[in-house]
Amino acid sequence: MKGVGPRLAERFASRGIHTVNDALYLIPRRYEDRRKVTTISNLVPRQQASFVAEVLDFGARRAGPRKQIYEVMLGDETGKITARWFRFHPKAFQNRFARGDRVRVAGRVEIYRKVRQMVHPDIEKIQDDPDDGNDFASIIPVYPEIEGIYPKTLRKIMRRVVEQYASHSAEILPEAILGHHDFPPIAEALRQVHFPPDNSDVDELNRGRSAAHRRVVFEEFFLLQLGLALRRGRIKAQAGRAHPVREDLFALARELFGFDLTGAQKRVLSEITGDMARLEPMHRLLQGDVGSGKTAVAVLAATVAAGAGTQTAFMAPTEILAEQHCRNILKLVRDRSAALTVTFLSSAVKGQARREVLEGIASGSVDLVVGTHALIEERVQFSDLGLCIIDEQHRFGVAQRAGLQAKGKRPDVLVMTATPIPRTLSMTVYGDLDVSILDEMPPGRLPVKTVVLRGSQVKQAYRHVRSEVESGGQAYLVYPLVEESEKMDLRDATRMFERLSQGAFAGLRLGLLHGRMPADEKDMVMQRFSAGDLDVLVATTVIEVGVDVPRATIMLVEHAERFGLSQLHQLRGRVGRGERPSTCYLVAHSLASGDARSRLEVMERTNDGFIIAEEDLAIRGPGEFLGTRQSGLPSFFFGNLARDGDLLSQARRDAFGLVEEDPKLANPGHALLKKALWSRWGRRLQFAEVG
Ligand code: ADP
Ligand code: MG
Repeated sequence: MKGVGPRLAERFASRGIHTVNDALYLIPRRYEDRRKVTTISNLVPRQQASFVAEVLDFGARRAGPRKQIYEVMLGDETGKITARWFRFHPKAFQNRFARGDRVRVAGRVEIYRKVRQMVHPDIEKIQDDPDDGNDFASIIPVYPEIEGIYPKTLRKIMRRVVEQYASHSAEILPEAILGHHDFPPIAEALRQVHFPPDNSDVDELNRGRSAAHRRVVFEEFFLLQLGLALRRGRIKAQAGRAHPVREDLFALARELFGFDLTGAQKRVLSEITGDMARLEPMHRLLQGDVGSGKTAVAVLAATVAAGAGTQTAFMAPTEILAEQHCRNILKLVRDRSAALTVTFLSSAVKGQARREVLEGIASGSVDLVVGTHALIEERVQFSDLGLCIIDEQHRFGVAQRAGLQAKGKRPDVLVMTATPIPRTLSMTVYGDLDVSILDEMPPGRLPVKTVVLRGSQVKQAYRHVRSEVESGGQAYLVYPLVEESEKMDLRDATRMFERLSQGAFAGLRLGLLHGRMPADEKDMVMQRFSAGDLDVLVATTVIEVGVDVPRATIMLVEHAERFGLSQLHQLRGRVGRGERPSTCYLVAHSLASGDARSRLEVMERTNDGFIIAEEDLAIRGPGEFLGTRQSGLPSFFFGNLARDGDLLSQARRDAFGLVEEDPKLANPGHALLKKALWSRWGRRLQFAEVG
């Protein structure tokens, strides 16, 4: 680009902008409305304004031992105002102005010692600038800051980029798809996103929802969904295992478990067994809140595999979780273990016991093996692995998931998660999986009563904890930090453990659990709590991970305002697992903003993890919601999953429809699309055959 030398090019590169095309997708952060031209007498302090004036006087003035200020006195028929620069390059100002110059000025009006002034305004001579008129009396883009490039320089470069190259942007969307939408062509959309027409609605622009913005976002989403559709298509194109479904499955469930499946369980089970019956490999996500009955569904899927003579591997991310799954499964199938031979494998299983487990897996006498990533070790050989169930898969790396699948011949894959995530997110993070949702709780489960308290009301909750313990219950007390932080007045687990042992809970049996304790100590504390040898567990969020203690009926979360809603929901899921009604207190110590309070009130209103997840996403944005690094969430240039869910759904429908018709994008009409797909997402999509 003209005007971009090596130095500027480096600056651009520091923001990942290497090509003209990259620059075209540097979307403005917001827009400034300079359409209204005012007069000097009408300038309002602390507001943006633009006006035309004459240069009356100018020059640098000493304002201290080593400080200079550059001033320009401006006037029009209605009055005068001074423009000031506190930082400036003398050279840049040397021949910049002459008395009598007519200039356009734009910037914020400030007040200094009761006199209006303009500080560092945009100011340009009328006529002698080639871009004259463009930056003034119009809506101008404000770009994300790039260190070392003045906003105005950036705007000038961007104007050139857009004027010279926007029209070269290839229309990659197939006509059939463009036909469904009333988007402007891409060249036009890019031009308008950068330099909106003067008659635009500035609010709409600033919300990123103008037709031009929507077009750009749609394209971005479409390319992502296309990648996912292709990946899914590739998985489905392989020949896997056909597991015929047993017709008496629901009756078998009653016989095995002693209860009837919920409607939701029956529905998702039909979806799962439908997949399993087909030759193409299943690639499905089962989402359901804690306690919604996923384990029962998983066990039945395993019986379907066993019925067809194949084995099931059920992998969980931690030892505790894997053990608990195994315990729950054994409890579920009670003494009917004849129907399904279940075993357990982790690195803790050693010696003779391990040899026996490995032997059972290899001989095929074991139908279902539950375990940790120990399952993917080389020594573990299955007789015939037909179904992989992966719990909380986002905690596994790609290699680990692939490793498990490689133990069989393209086995069916069922991914399970107890972390409800909003639909827009699952369409991206799990976008190549089919999704089943368990949205109904088994009968008899009591919702957890949730109460938001202010810090000053915490004693009330302590009293409740005590009376609950005295009548046979147990309690969790959760704190955000492990140790006292010097800066903030946060109540940390360690300190409160000591204080409460002497004070409010004197005489009760308290345990302490936090992330910095050695693993075996943690296990011991947890075991004592679940055996009922402790009344109160003072903990950090380490208890978030799959702890199941039915006698625990009270949870008290301190500094609840510091947690995400979804995290609070996960924590709350630790109580309400028994027969007795449970209570969850959310104690907020600083509710500076009304926002924080209304946020927590969502928890009082609903026990539905999906509703909570939607709220959480809207508040925190997708990156934080998932914890960006582990999430596998593509960093969108521009689209916003909370804001643009409608476009995402449309893009998904269109992309999956296209791949259905043209699974390899072999149609010449799709050549540009194919190219764009690779250049836009490239390796980031990781077109591997694994989740
Ligand atoms: P999840 O794995 O989704 O957290 P579980 O499968 O562990 O949930 O089920 C939670 C509890 O509900 C278990 O004690 C289980 O036995 C019970 N349960 C599951 N499905 C039903 C059902 N349809 N009817 C009654 N109880 C059920
Ligand atoms: Mg199958």
